[in-house]
Amino acid sequence: GVGAAAAALFREQAELRDYKLVEKIGEGAFSKVFRATPLDSAFPARGYKQVAVKVIRKETLQTQDRESETSVAASFSSKNSKNKSSTREQVLKEVALHKKVSPGCRYIVQFLDFIETPSCYYIVQELLNGGEIFNEIVRFTYLSEDLSRHVARQLGKAVRHLHRMGVVHRDIKPENLLFNPIDIAPSPQGQQHFRKSDDPNTKLDEGVFTPGVGGGGIGEVKLADFGLSKQIYQTSTKTPCGTVGYTAPEVVKDERYSMKVDMWGVGCVLYTMLCGFPPFYDDKIDVLTEKISRGAYTFLQPWWDEISPGAKHCVGKLLEVDPVHRYDIDEFLADPWLNSYDCQPAPQP
Ligand code: ADP
Ligand code: MG
Repeated sequence: GVGAAAAALFREQAELRDYKLVEKIGEGAFSKVFRATPLDSAFPARGYKQVAVKVIRKETLQTQDRESETSVAASFSSKNSKNKSSTREQVLKEVALHKKVSPGCRYIVQFLDFIETPSCYYIVQELLNGGEIFNEIVRFTYLSEDLSRHVARQLGKAVRHLHRMGVVHRDIKPENLLFNPIDIAPSPQGQQHFRKSDDPNTKLDEGVFTPGVGGGGIGEVKLADFGLSKQIYQTSTKTPCGTVGYTAPEVVKDERYSMKVDMWGVGCVLYTMLCGFPPFYDDKIDVLTEKISRGAYTFLQPWWDEISPGAKHCVGKLLEVDPVHRYDIDEFLADPWLNSYDCQPAPQP
């Protein structure tokens, strides 16, 4: 039957009872993600017609030779130092944090279910049909300021939710930003369309705007992938060890500024959306690392020529090397550019 065909198609299906894998929709360094249908027995996913299932094979996690590593960012990530003994703990930590931050925030991909079998871990999540914001940037070369703002605002609200819970994401990038598409009817004159934020037909509380150039059709945006996330214990509330009064200054500072790594990530995402390439890049990893440590980025001509001073200022406050001067999440959400109007009405012919 259909189940047997699916099992033949996907090795990952074999030990999974409650969900039927339909199609592979994504891949990370250590995972495959499938679109799936919850069966009647899948209680945590009731009400969902389709879900996304992130499958982490235990055997792949144990393989240490990763010559084919493609992502530059991934080679920095602590995932590279994953070893056999900590594998299970890493996955359980991702699940625990995702489960914790997911309720009550529409800007975070909702966690639904977790299943462990002899060969795999399965993390079942809400499905986002549009895929990665990364692919939208590739598809349109860059996103308009209005569309970038639309994405950045929602990302900001996800990050605010996390930071209020004392959680740092630590892997904010366009690959981990997913979206649901919205249908945009082309206007008779082929002009720009926009919907105001108070439009009752949009489920979003921010404006949904579709420019003619630089992309469009991005509806809800949600932050995914809690594989590198971390719970931060603030000195004022709980300390991981020792007595508060005896904590060294660099530890106190570390705790205070640890959230700012996400703000740097938001800055990189915003920069990349606006111009279509990342703020820091080099083929040689040591050169790249050195550029980042100096914060050596530029608003490269001619790509940045048309971008507004307000957008550049916002990027600048995020890509500030000194975390003391870098925007925190509340400052970012109060940024004038981020709060400026979503679009100009289309000019009349
Ligand atoms: P990894 O930790 O291996 O990077 P991710 O959780 O980031 O895994 O998932 C890898 C990719 O799978 C994502 O970049 C995205 O393309 C796709 N994906 C993950 N979760 C979903 C989801 N809920 N809906 C749609 N696509 C998803
Ligand atoms: Mg990822």
